Amino acid sequence: MKDFTSGFADLHNHLYGSIRPELLWEIGRSNPSPRWEIFTIPYEQLYGRKIRPETFFSDFQDSKAFRDLYLFNHSGPFLEFQAKFNLIIALSQFNPQEIRFISERVVLDQYEDGVTFGEYRIMYSEKETYEGIYEKTLAACEGLQKAESTLKEKARGRLVISLHRDGDVFREYEVVKSIMEKSSLIKEYLVGLDFCYIEEGFPPKDKKEFLELVNRDNLAESSTALAVLYHVGESFQDKSLVSASRWILQSAEFGAHRLGHAIALGIEPMSFLGQTIVESAQELRDTLEFLYERRDEISDYCELQTREKIGLEIDSIRHKEKVELYQDEESLLISKGFQNYCMDSILDQKAVIESCPSSNEYIGMVKDIGHHPLLRFFQKGMRMTISTDDPGIFGTSMKNEYNKAETIGVSPEFLEEIRKDSFQYTSEILSGRARQ
Ligand SMILES: [Zn+2]
Repeated sequence: MKDFTSGFADLHNHLYGSIRPELLWEIGRSNPSPRWEIFTIPYEQLYGRKIRPETFFSDFQDSKAFRDLYLFNHSGPFLEFQAKFNLIIALSQFNPQEIRFISERVVLDQYEDGVTFGEYRIMYSEKETYEGIYEKTLAACEGLQKAESTLKEKARGRLVISLHRDGDVFREYEVVKSIMEKSSLIKEYLVGLDFCYIEEGFPPKDKKEFLELVNRDNLAESSTALAVLYHVGESFQDKSLVSASRWILQSAEFGAHRLGHAIALGIEPMSFLGQTIVESAQELRDTLEFLYERRDEISDYCELQTREKIGLEIDSIRHKEKVELYQDEESLLISKGFQNYCMDSILDQKAVIESCPSSNEYIGMVKDIGHHPLLRFFQKGMRMTISTDDPGIFGTSMKNEYNKAETIGVSPEFLEEIRKDSFQYTSEILSGRARQ
């Protein structure tokens, strides 16, 4: 077997977000009927620029003009990112033939940027049929395999299926297991399950039973083991930093193998000074109950109220729906201590943090790069990997992400450790399918 550990392992990566401008252009050109309105309407509303489908390919013939239209490489609200991502949706057909082609090309393009191991996430519509999921997954695996053979096995690509947080994940999991039975290629290349997209409203406690089931199955049959990759603590405008950090810790405790972004865990709390956060009373209740139960351990990290007072606070919000939490210095010091408690506790678990510097800067809640969570992860010595998230649309590469991490303040020595360790954090290893 070839040694492929000399380059980068890009473990948090979405297949269609990895499409580079040149590749997207090619796909668009060969699509007989792009779904223009998906792109043009929101784009015009947000960016104030009229796009004419009839003359699109001559208007944007210049590669720089097309790049500028497509790339999202500035900080902005999620809707602006989505408006650009819609160009991918509009120009692509998402049929097996295209998925095969893109999977192959993405691995080849990434290899040019020094990536020798990549895990690519794909998400199907909730309405996709069993046959459709089977054919598309098989096509993706064929594309990955083809790229590996073109590169003479100097690089590897693996597939991860993103499930729907709001769907019937048990049924989706059954479908995944069934297509792995049906095709030995899928069984080999499909290595994990991902939870992505909007996280607000979907607490990890609702996925506890599911995470436990996957981990039990992994132990019972390691040859088909799947890692659970869980986007969490990336967007948390609806809750306090303490609640958001609790979500991250609980995801790890319930059995998620890798934690996507986990911004809330390491972002500098003082960046929230003076803000008022509106949180649901249910969320605050869950947090207070958590603090009540673990008060003694957490008290080593920050000054908490007595159990009695926490109990009274739980009583006081019993009939409320929402609570307003003003972020003053005192409450933010507690948040910081709580983050440290969560980080130490995660170090006791097997979970690995996936940090995506550019993504967090552009669409995450990191407003000031000096407050980037990576810095605290580094100071705490967390098990972590650095990834691109959507290298195509962000116009980034692994080299660029590592450079950004160094600019933020992570030492070159620690970065080299992260680079090497990342090959030990693959889904196949974390799920128990492959040995270290
Ligand atoms: Zn992601």
